[in-house]
Amino acid sequence: MRIGGAARYFVELKTKKDAEDVVIFTEETGLPLVMLGGGSNTIFADGMIEAVVARVVADRVDLPHIKAPHPNPLPPGEGILVHVEAGKILASFLNELAEQNLDLSPLTGIPGTVGGAVFGNAGQGFGGTWIGSFVKDVTFYHKKQWKTWKQEECGLGYRESVFKTMSPPIIWSVTLSVPTRPQEEIQAERERLMQKRMATQPHVKTAGSCFKSLPNGTPAWKLIDAAGLRGFRVGDIQVAEKHANFLLNTGKATFDDATTLVQKIQSHMGQPLDVEMRFVKKDGSVLF
Ligand SMILES: Cc1cc2nc3c(=O)[nH]c(=O)nc-3n(C[C@H](O)[C@H](O)[C@H](O)COP(=O)(O)OP(=O)(O)OC[C@H]3O[C@@H](n4cnc5c(N)ncnc54)[C@H](O)[C@@H]3O)c2cc1C
Repeated sequence: MRIGGAARYFVELKTKKDAEDVVIFTEETGLPLVMLGGGSNTIFADGMIEAVVARVVADRVDLPHIKAPHPNPLPPGEGILVHVEAGKILASFLNELAEQNLDLSPLTGIPGTVGGAVFGNAGQGFGGTWIGSFVKDVTFYHKKQWKTWKQEECGLGYRESVFKTMSPPIIWSVTLSVPTRPQEEIQAERERLMQKRMATQPHVKTAGSCFKSLPNGTPAWKLIDAAGLRGFRVGDIQVAEKHANFLLNTGKATFDDATTLVQKIQSHMGQPLDVEMRFVKKDGSVLF
């Protein structure tokens, strides 16, 4: 969203040893670890963030080679196993898979990395398809131990994962079970989904959906709209006219503008509205 200051330390993690070393570094400095992927769903406080901000840049993909086009689509629920490191940009990953007749098209148009997508179980809206339904296992570093957890251990619900409840884990890699489909069909579906996004969502200086849908599936934009808050602004931060669950930085918005706007929206609602984006404070802790 182009809001926020600088990190006291910023580290790129290329190897598992880097991940182990950065945890030691946080102990030595006494600073918290803040994990970052592509930053498409995160907003940082202004000024100096007193934290070690680390991003996994390892992005290796282990792709099986499949005859193109795949003659026999696999039965529903079965897929080809693909292993990918967390720093892989999701959009590039989808392109590479499609070239091999492998279909993750439901994740079309989601910015950011594979690690960020797993952390927040990114995907379509409530009731749609999320990355968690393709996950077989996730490898991560937590409390100085490497662990590989199967899908059922990862707590992958609507925009939720067990990783959100941990003192920062470093999600390192993921094994996905990806369905097969002829490349032309995948491309046509991705094109259709992109057109839909372009028609309904803003794409400038935003971090995507700000609030989660209610547990009964009611989309947040409907509630915000019903409260008459479409277009509502605090300073340079505004509820988008095009999509009432997207916040826009219309100029030089600050972190305080954004948090005030979120809190005002929440206080207008008759029911709790959970925040989907991550707001990181100056001390590295998470506000929402
Ligand atoms: C225009 C637009 C459209 C969007 N559409 C959608 C959508 O349709 N569906 C959807 O779900 N989201 C959507 N988003 C939100 C966002 O793109 C997703 O949540 C995305 O998965 C975030 O990935 P990221 O790598 O940018 O994560 P970041 O914003 O960098 O991080 C998000 C969280 O993940 C954690 N994290 C990231 N990488 C790691 C790692 N390796 N280890 C541990 N923790 C990690 C971070 O600590 C942070 O808490 C949209 C955003 C925009 C701007």
